[in-house]
Amino acid sequence: MSSEGIALERYQVAVADWAAACGVPPPEVRIDEYEVDCATYDPVDMSIAMPAFFRDDNTVVTAVLMHEFAHYLDDPLTRIAEHGPSFLRHLCDLAELEYGDARLYPWHQEYDHILEWAIEHELVNTEEPPEE
Ligand SMILES: [Zn+2]
Repeated sequence: MSSEGIALERYQVAVADWAAACGVPPPEVRIDEYEVDCATYDPVDMSIAMPAFFRDDNTVVTAVLMHEFAHYLDDPLTRIAEHGPSFLRHLCDLAELEYGDARLYPWHQEYDHILEWAIEHELVNTEEPPEE
């Protein structure tokens, strides 16, 4: 199997697990062979497109997939912004589900406004480690 095929299968397994935990049908996931690093969610056919290549490690790849899945959970009728409160609540819930603690989500690789929200909600440790 090609590495793209292996990656796609891994995404589908992760998304199926999250969908089962959230009580929703899993969205379609596909590989966008022209993209690097950038994933997208298509609200029309409710599918997630993952890039064919990532420069980052697996933690970031899972977080990128989780971000797109949070868009899938975000109800287009009630949301007030693309990364609004309901989206962020879904993302937090998914991070709790995946890592057992939303603070373990790699917030630093998110958009600035999402990182700021995470800092405001004390999900990011901004304190300097104490000196011994
Ligand atoms: Zn987004």
